[in-house]
Amino acid sequence: MIKKTRKLIVGNWKMNPLSLEEVKEITDAVKRTIKKTKQVTAVLCPPAVFLAEVTRAVQNTKDVYTGGQNTFTEAQGSFTGEVSPMMLASVGAGYVIIGHSERRKMGETDEQISAKVRLALEAGLSVIVCVGESVRDAQVKYLEVVSGQIKSAFAGVTVKQLPQMIVAYEPVWAIGKDSKGPMTPRDLYEMTIFIKKVLSELYEQKIAMKTQILYGGSVNAETSAGLVKEGEVSGLLVGRESINPEGFAGILRAVDAL
Ligand code: PEP
Repeated sequence: MIKKTRKLIVGNWKMNPLSLEEVKEITDAVKRTIKKTKQVTAVLCPPAVFLAEVTRAVQNTKDVYTGGQNTFTEAQGSFTGEVSPMMLASVGAGYVIIGHSERRKMGETDEQISAKVRLALEAGLSVIVCVGESVRDAQVKYLEVVSGQIKSAFAGVTVKQLPQMIVAYEPVWAIGKDSKGPMTPRDLYEMTIFIKKVLSELYEQKIAMKTQILYGGSVNAETSAGLVKEGEVSGLLVGRESINPEGFAGILRAVDAL
């Protein structure tokens, strides 16, 4: 497990890139950049088919780890097309993203997310669980949405397992090229406080406060440092810019310079 003081920059490559050549290009750029940084740790989450390759490529590079983008509710068996968290761990991944909004949109439920979280923890992985509202309503119902997702994802997570849990706050309206762009650092700060409050209702406050909270949604090199600093988060979950070698390097450098 990484030292908590370093900022965690997670790259969710989604269903990209299409070739091993491009995988190498993105991975090599991260390796080159991270060697010149002191305050950041990168976690690369490529498509499952590339995971072993990327993990091998970074295994001798300090402060670069890998993770899966999803996993399954069962450890093994007749589940065509699925990937078990034990398999992710077996190829050397240290992390897994669970409950990404793109998977929730495909029908993934809070119950399935909770089951995936519990099994991934059993497999020894650090879990990056994604939460976030689709819309910001005037009645402030979005806070209930986020607290409900957190409570469900953490159901069954013991105090002992808590250091393996990372919350990625990703407002759905801020994700992707058709979004309005990232939220303001000030609004993020309020959400960080709120998420800590929700976790403090579930675990002893002193322990709950140590849980790492990441922000995700249209982050780029220009916005990254402000979001981390003023938003008081432990790091970022980066989508599009994670497959842009220059863009991701810019984010690593900007957060490292904080
Ligand atoms: C994401 O999908 O997790 C994400 C943060 O995407 P983007 O950075 O492209 O908005």
